[in-house]
Amino acid sequence: MSTNPAPPWSMLAARLEGELETDALHRILFATDASVYRELPRAVVFPRSEADIVACVHFARRHGVPITPRAGGTSLAGQAVGKGLIVDVSRHLRKIIEINAEEGYAVVEPGVIRDQLNAALQEHGYWFGPNTSTANRCTLGGMFGNNSCGSTSITVGSTREHTLEARVVLSDGSVVSLSAGILSPGFLSPGPSPGERGGDPNSIESKRLSFSSPESRSIPFSAGASAGEGESPILANVHGWLRQHLSNPTTRQKIREAYPKPAVTRRNNGYALDLLARQAPFDPDGPPLNLCTLLAGSEGTLAFTTQLKLRILPLPPRGSAVVALHFTTVDASLRATQLAMETSPFMCELMDDTILHLALQNHDQRKNASFVEGDPRALLLVEYRAATDALALEMARQLGRSMMEPGPLAVPAYATPALAGQPQTDKVWALRAAGLGILGNMVGDAKAVACIEDTAVALPDLADYIEEVEALMQLYRQNAVFYAHAGAGELHLRPVLDLKKTADRQRFHDITRDVARLVKKYGGSLSGEHGDGRVRGQFLPEMLGDDVYQLLVELKRTWDPQGIFNPGKIVEAPPMNEELRYAAEQQVADYDTLLDFSADGGILRAAEKCNGSGDCRKLSGGAMCPSYRATLHERDSTRGRANVLREVLTQNQHEDPWAHPALADALDLCLSCKACTSECPSTVNMTNLKAEYLHQKQAREGLSLRTRLVAANEWLYRTGGRVPRLANLLLDATEPLMKYLVGIAAERSLPRFPVESLRTFYTRERPAVAGTRGQLYFFGDEFVNYQDVEVGRAALRLWWKLGYDVHWPEHAGSGRAQLSKGLLKEARRLAARNVEVFADRVGEQAPLVGLEPSAILGFRDEYPKLFRGDLAARAQVLSGHCFTFDEWLFREFTAGRVGPDDFGHVQQEVVLHVHCHEKALGEASQCAAVLSLPRHFNVTLLDSGCCGMAGSFGYEAEHYEISQQIAEQSLYAKLRGRSTKTLIVAAGTSCRHQLKDGMGRRAWHTAEVLWRSW
Ligand SMILES: Cc1cc2nc3c(=O)[nH]c(=O)nc-3n(C[C@H](O)[C@H](O)[C@H](O)COP(=O)(O)OP(=O)(O)OC[C@H]3O[C@@H](n4cnc5c(N)ncnc54)[C@H](O)[C@@H]3O)c2cc1C
Ligand code: SF4
Ligand code: SF4
Repeated sequence: MSTNPAPPWSMLAARLEGELETDALHRILFATDASVYRELPRAVVFPRSEADIVACVHFARRHGVPITPRAGGTSLAGQAVGKGLIVDVSRHLRKIIEINAEEGYAVVEPGVIRDQLNAALQEHGYWFGPNTSTANRCTLGGMFGNNSCGSTSITVGSTREHTLEARVVLSDGSVVSLSAGILSPGFLSPGPSPGERGGDPNSIESKRLSFSSPESRSIPFSAGASAGEGESPILANVHGWLRQHLSNPTTRQKIREAYPKPAVTRRNNGYALDLLARQAPFDPDGPPLNLCTLLAGSEGTLAFTTQLKLRILPLPPRGSAVVALHFTTVDASLRATQLAMETSPFMCELMDDTILHLALQNHDQRKNASFVEGDPRALLLVEYRAATDALALEMARQLGRSMMEPGPLAVPAYATPALAGQPQTDKVWALRAAGLGILGNMVGDAKAVACIEDTAVALPDLADYIEEVEALMQLYRQNAVFYAHAGAGELHLRPVLDLKKTADRQRFHDITRDVARLVKKYGGSLSGEHGDGRVRGQFLPEMLGDDVYQLLVELKRTWDPQGIFNPGKIVEAPPMNEELRYAAEQQVADYDTLLDFSADGGILRAAEKCNGSGDCRKLSGGAMCPSYRATLHERDSTRGRANVLREVLTQNQHEDPWAHPALADALDLCLSCKACTSECPSTVNMTNLKAEYLHQKQAREGLSLRTRLVAANEWLYRTGGRVPRLANLLLDATEPLMKYLVGIAAERSLPRFPVESLRTFYTRERPAVAGTRGQLYFFGDEFVNYQDVEVGRAALRLWWKLGYDVHWPEHAGSGRAQLSKGLLKEARRLAARNVEVFADRVGEQAPLVGLEPSAILGFRDEYPKLFRGDLAARAQVLSGHCFTFDEWLFREFTAGRVGPDDFGHVQQEVVLHVHCHEKALGEASQCAAVLSLPRHFNVTLLDSGCCGMAGSFGYEAEHYEISQQIAEQSLYAKLRGRSTKTLIVAAGTSCRHQLKDGMGRRAWHTAEVLWRSW
């Protein structure tokens, strides 16, 4: 932590509408982005207005505290971290101010997420074209900061070309709106002589935008321009500087020679001086001077953006199809790229087998990869758009056919499956988008490191360039991983390095330097989209030459004489292999954990799997991360939690890392929903990490009364169940007081004691003659045995009616409550008994089936991690034979043992909410499939997230509100307005309880609804 005297933070806080945080938690949370760097900031501000940002700038000037603007924090080059004040616009500045479809623009605050803007634009028939793989969580402020682009760049270009106007706070605190033709008074515009013109016919702006777009116009922001607009002394100096240098033909010539070839369409090398030199008055034939061109890609180093006016485009044609060209060599796929580009595709992307193999280890991506045939060395994915899917499919197939012929390619494609329609093509692009994140999914300390991951060359140079890169990588004993925006000539390539080792930190530098030289040789751009930041800034003098580099330094000083905006990024960058996330040769304690994290190399490495990609900050689709979606606070994202855990385990400032208050804060709202287990590309399993944390903490601090009660839940219901009427009377009389004393929300209802337990029912009703269709072992968990007895009855009746022989030996509780509360020793004791009971009984022909997903799935996820040695091995084998009711039925259906004829003919509308654990560890689509077995059931599978209850979480008084907020976002809103005749199906007891308390709706288990089909 810094030893400099603390600036008077309270003075700044007093001037802010938003929040200022200086505690350890916030400093840790914002010390990293998606890059390899770690810089501990001094404070973090969440501005609520432009005035807040102006206040931060004045404070920074007065007290010499630099500002790093930050949004989604998904940058890969270290440009979203800094040692001063982090100003995060992603929390509050997220308003879409205006959409003007007629004039073709949208005005947004910088924290608006790209996909959210597009969702709003869709109803107008428009979209914002540039995209990134991170489009569901990165913001327009961040995209402008980095001049982002992605798979659509071959058709629409990058963010720069779509920014009509930017409203920014300058380093003197003045606010200006910048757009084409906004010049300071007295700006001289003599223009160079015709012979001196620097315009290039291949200028990237002149080639794109094949979807007709309204012309760029300078329309003032609807929010109104500031009084000082165009009159700022800083702006006048900038204009003066540009006039002085860019009017000079020799300088322009030097710039032209230093920057990438014009045919390189992706170019985020330094400040875009080369493009300014092609604008009027420096090139009289060019478009009017627009400082947005320069600010795009300036990484928050020149000014702070508060609003953007963006060009929007009519939506591309609806019909879509992707052809996946399978090749046996990378070189063949690259040569195919050039041919594919001649057919004007919408997107053209490449991924190699390493990415594919890693993808296949990820639960969600495995599903998306189903189109892959055999084991291709490289896949070239080419999308076409047309009026209909069928037309697009024909184009895709045509390319596929031509690529399989021996003629055009020395090594033709061996398979060319084509997929039509957006649901199918979305899966392909989801797989491709996950690629970079998946690369982070490597066990151990060696990771695929971002440093040369977005170099770009002209398309005709790509194959030769890659050949040389591959040779270079071999020198460094690196197995190159290829992943490219191939159509745009950009290669994603990451060396695998252990940055905890001094030698690899040197290699990190050397490889980047050598690749930079190679890029220079081909006239390419060291960064095609991710920016220079910390990682590439050091090599800019070599890339651009000293003279041009000095111009960049001067330009920065002209905009920002005091160096308050994001210093050390792009220009005057410190050595790129310092201030990394991991300290070199650092000795870290070996943490003795109860859960077995050895598959990840220990608990620290399990936390280090988070590479900061920020997928857990997405706000729609899937379920990760429900707490972040509710609070929009980095602290409540999986990334935030993993960062805090890594930090306290490695850089702990407290006597005992487990007692660190930042850890308690970060993990408090984790619902242990397991969504991250499947949706995080690096499979960070926060449920396990939180359980271990609670175990460690409680081992030191003891248990609260509430935790004891939750853990004693089964015993309480078993005991009370012996005298249910009396127990219920007692519960009625003491409920309010008990809730108050224990800390349970007053709004919650507590389950009543059943008149008879499920076990009693089973013993009484079990058929005398065993069924012959098959057999199964029933895991009658504590919830179904004592609380949701009617669910168990329906399942048993169904099994018996279908002719199954159901065995239910005596066994222990599932341990779910203990696992969620970190009572791991108790959970282990229960799990050990269950493994003893079932391990030798269950198998392929007699699986173990449970009704409560969270209980039975504990056998699959947690049980094997609770043990070591023989018991762990037995638990592992057992886990392969444990199924939820839905999984089991799906299995019987696919084996042909059960079919639609086995069910009744009742007509029924059904809407299905799948439990988080089942979504994470199973297949939601299977749940929908089994519910659809009765011929007259019409099933809607909800795209719902976590219900917000999560075991005891939603009962807890302090979590009640957030639990309702999560339920509202992910579930209630999707159910509201549906007919009361529609049955809601939710296999989870918590989900059913949440729906009862929050919406007053009865929800049913799958077994109950199927039982009602007769
Ligand atoms: C897995 C993965 C895949 C990626 N794929 C792509 C891709 O396909 N294409 C691509 O281009 N990028 C990609 N990126 C990089 C990154 O996602 C993009 O650059 C993204 O646009 C950054 O947006 P953000 O909101 O996260 O911004 P941040 O990372 O928070 O900030 C980006 C930059 O903008 C500056 N900034 C932010 N807000 C402001 C403001 N209000 N005023 C001034 N400056 C500001 C910051 O200081 C920083 O320099 C990827 C990253 C990851 C982790
Ligand atoms: S937790 Fe996973 S999804 Fe979130 S930032 Fe880390 S790696 Fe990405
Ligand atoms: S378990 Fe759920 S709530 Fe916790 S970090 Fe993972 S996704 Fe978020």
